[in-house]
Amino acid sequence: MMNQLPVTQCRFCGGEDIRVGWQSDALVTFKRNGLLGNRIKFLICGNCGAVLYQCVAEPHRFPQAR
Ligand SMILES: [Zn+2]
Repeated sequence: MMNQLPVTQCRFCGGEDIRVGWQSDALVTFKRNGLLGNRIKFLICGNCGAVLYQCVAEPHRFPQAR
């Protein structure tokens, strides 16, 4: 598991209030578990709302590009 955050400070406003969100298909949720499919994790600045980072939760589910 990757527990450490890749960003700890907003690069736009300098805020350190980092929030996490999950997206599965078109559904944006704050629940981490209970969803199937490819989930995307967001790190969001709680101050200005900028999306600072995003990654997929299960990268091994995707095909290799070559
Ligand atoms: Zn910010």
